[in-house]
Amino acid sequence: MQTEQTLLEQLNDNQRQAVVYCDGPQLVIAGAGSGKTRVLTYKIAYLLVHYDLKPWNILALTFTNKAANEMKGRISGLVGDERGRSLQMGTFHSIFSRILRVEAATLGFSSDFTIYDEADSRSLIKSICKQMGLDDKTYKPSTVHAAISMAKNRLQMPDDYAADGDSLERDRRRNMAETHKIYRAYQSRLRLANAMDFDDLLVYTYLLLNQNEEIRRKYAARFQYVLVDEYQDTNYVQQQILWLLTRDVRRICVVGDDYQSIYAFRGAKIDNILNFQKVYADAQLFKLERNYRSTKLIVAAANSLMKHNERQIPKEVYSENENGEKVKVMETISDKREAAIVCREIKRIRQQEKCRWSDFAILYRTNAQSRLFEEEMRKSEVAMGDKYRVYGGLSFYQRKEIKDVIAYLRLVVNPNDEEAFRRIVNYPARGIGDTTLAKVLDCAQQQETSLWEVISNPVQYQLLVNKGTATKLLNFRALIDGFVAQREESDALTLARDIIEKSGIKADLATDRTAEGDSRRENLDSLISGIADFVQAQREDGQEEHVLLTDYLANVSLMTDQDSDDSSDDKVTLMTIHAAKGLEFGTVFIVGLEENIFPSQMSVGSMRELEEERRLLYVAITRAEKHCYLTWAHTRWRFGKMDGFVNASRFLNDIAPKYLDVQVEGGRGSGGHSSYGETWGGNSHGSYRPWEDDYEINKPYTGSREWGNDYGRRSGRMQNSRPVAGQFMADPKPKITS
Ligand code: ATP
Ligand code: MG
Repeated sequence: MQTEQTLLEQLNDNQRQAVVYCDGPQLVIAGAGSGKTRVLTYKIAYLLVHYDLKPWNILALTFTNKAANEMKGRISGLVGDERGRSLQMGTFHSIFSRILRVEAATLGFSSDFTIYDEADSRSLIKSICKQMGLDDKTYKPSTVHAAISMAKNRLQMPDDYAADGDSLERDRRRNMAETHKIYRAYQSRLRLANAMDFDDLLVYTYLLLNQNEEIRRKYAARFQYVLVDEYQDTNYVQQQILWLLTRDVRRICVVGDDYQSIYAFRGAKIDNILNFQKVYADAQLFKLERNYRSTKLIVAAANSLMKHNERQIPKEVYSENENGEKVKVMETISDKREAAIVCREIKRIRQQEKCRWSDFAILYRTNAQSRLFEEEMRKSEVAMGDKYRVYGGLSFYQRKEIKDVIAYLRLVVNPNDEEAFRRIVNYPARGIGDTTLAKVLDCAQQQETSLWEVISNPVQYQLLVNKGTATKLLNFRALIDGFVAQREESDALTLARDIIEKSGIKADLATDRTAEGDSRRENLDSLISGIADFVQAQREDGQEEHVLLTDYLANVSLMTDQDSDDSSDDKVTLMTIHAAKGLEFGTVFIVGLEENIFPSQMSVGSMRELEEERRLLYVAITRAEKHCYLTWAHTRWRFGKMDGFVNASRFLNDIAPKYLDVQVEGGRGSGGHSSYGETWGGNSHGSYRPWEDDYEINKPYTGSREWGNDYGRRSGRMQNSRPVAGQFMADPKPKITS
C-alpha cells in the first residue's frame, strides 16, 4: 500500500499535474504510450488516498472489460485489495446495463431483459424483412443493422429517422427505402421480447437519465468522479450520458488521443475531443508528450506517418528510450511466405533476447487474415502449435452448440426472448416446423405480444393449429416452465446442467460420433466449467445466496472475446489492430500492408476514411516497444483465387524512409539494385539477411525492382503497367549470399 507521496513519485511532472488537478472538468490529450492510462490509474488511487473518496463513488469507463480488470488490479496493488474491488469500473455497456437492470421498470422492461448480440439482431432483421416481403439480398441484415446502429448512436429513434430527409435519401439511393420501417418494427419486436440490443444499452441509459430527473440526480450524486479512457472513440450518445451524469458537479477527467481515433465507422467522432472544451467551458487541458513505451525510431516512424493526415491536433511525441532499430519492412513473395517469415522472426528474437511468447503480437486489418499464421504455427517444423492465441473471429460464444444452450438459459430467464425462442423451439427436433412457427409469429405480430404469450394462451390469441401441433407446443412450454420454476431455487450451475440434460441437447450431441461431435461435446463441457468458475468467483467475492442463472447471463452477454482474461498465458497474440488499442508488446508484426487490405478496399475512395486507416496504422506501430515489422506479400490468395497483382500499401510511402529498413525476400539491399536503395534514401539499405535458405526454395523470384521504383508508383500510377507474375519468373536474377 502506497502513500500519496510514493504514488506521485512514479509520475513525471506533466503526468503528476494531471493527476493532482481535481478542481473541475479535465481533458488530457496525449500521444500513444505517453501514460494516459497510467494517469487515470494513478488519479483513481490519488482520489482514494488523498481525498478519501469511497471506491463506489468513482466511475471509470474503459474500452474493454479486460482493460477495466487490469486497471482494477493495478489500483488494488497501489491502494489495497478492498478498495480496488469496489470501484465502479468497466465498459459503458457493462456499467450501464447494470443500472438498466435496476431501473428497468421505469423504462417498461423487466429487470431480466435479454441483451441481443449482433447475430440476434441480424436474425431479427431477417425475420422482419421476410414478414414485410423484402428481399434480404437487397436488405442485407448486416447493412440494415449498421444503419440502425448508426441512427441509435446519434440518438435518432424510429420517428426521428423516418423524418430525417438525409437518412431517407441515402436509403433510397441504396435501394433500401424501407429501412425506416424495418427500424420501427425492429424496435417494437425487441420490446415485445423484453430485449435490448447493444446500442439500446446506451440509448435507454440516455433516455432513463434524460427523462427522469430524480434518477439522474441519484446517479450523478453516486458517481462523484467520472473518468474515461480512450475518449477519442466515444460517440454522441456516450457523451450525452456523460454530460447528464457530470453536469452538476463537473468532476470528470477524460483522456484520449485524436491520432488514435479509429471507430468513426461506429459513430465515434474525431472532434469529440475538441467539443469537450465547448461542452465543459471550464475544462482544463493537459498534454503529455513523452512516450515511455517505444524506442526513438519507432516513435519517429509513427510521427512521420501522421504528418500525412490533415485533420488532427498537432502534437509532438518524443521518446527518451534508446534509439533502437529501424522499423523493418519485409516484402515476401507470397502470403504463405509472409506467415513463415513472421514465425521465424518470432523464434529468432525469442531465442536471442530470451523473451516470452507473450512479448509478440501479430496484428492484422481483418480477422480473416489470421488463418495463414495459425496454419504456419501449427506446422511441425515451426512447432509453435499451442503458443499462440487468436482473439476475435468466431468466438466461443458464437458456436452453434454454445448458442443453443445459451438460448435455453436465456428463455428460462426471459421467456419472452424471441430470438432464443425461435432458435430452440424445435431443437432438439420435436416436430414443430417452420409453418407452425410462422403461424405463432403472425399471431404474435397481430396481437402485439410475444411468441411465448401466444403459445401460453393459444385459445385467447386464436392460434390455429391442429391438435397434434398444439400438444407439441404445450409440451415445449411445460419443459421451459419446469426450468423457470427452478430458477430461483437452484444455482446457475445446477440449473444449467439440468437444462442440458432434460432438454435433450446432451442426448442429441451424444449421437454425433464424428470428430466434430467430439469437439461440440468438449465445448459444452467448457461452457459448464465456465459457469462453475463464475459461480465460484461470485462466492469468493462474498456472495452468500445462490448464484443465479440471471447473474451468469447478465455477465456472459457482455463478454467479448477480447475480454476473456488469460493474460497469464505465455502465448503470441493474434488480433486485429482495432482490438489492440491500448495494449503493448515487445515486438509487433503488422501484416498484409497491401492496397485493398490496408487501406481497406472500402476506404480508398474517401479522404476521411483513408485518414482513419492511417490512424489505424499509427495505433498498430505504437503498440511496439522494441521491434516493429511491416510486412506484405507480392501474391495473395483472396476471395477464392490467387491475386498475382498485389500492390504495396500506400502507407509504406508515408513513413519517412530514414526510419525504415527494407528487406526483400530473395532480393538485395544496398548497391543500387534494390528499388528501396534508390528511392528510400541512403539510410535504409538493409542488406539482404534472413532468408538465404529460403531463396533456394523460391528460386525464380527476381527481387522487386520490376515492380516499379517505389511504393507510390506501385500503388498508384503503375497500376496499368504491372508485370504479369510469370514474366519475370523467366529471368531469375542471381542470388546474393552476403
Ligand atoms: P495508449 O495511447 O497506447 O493507450 P497510454 O498513453 O495510455 O498509451 P500507458 O499505457 O499509460 O500509455 O503507458 C505506456 C507505457 O509507459 C506503460 O508501460 C507505462 O507503464 C509506461 N509509463 C508511462 N508513464 C511512465 C512513467 N512516468 N514512468 C515509468 N513508466 C511509465
Ligand atoms: Mg492507454
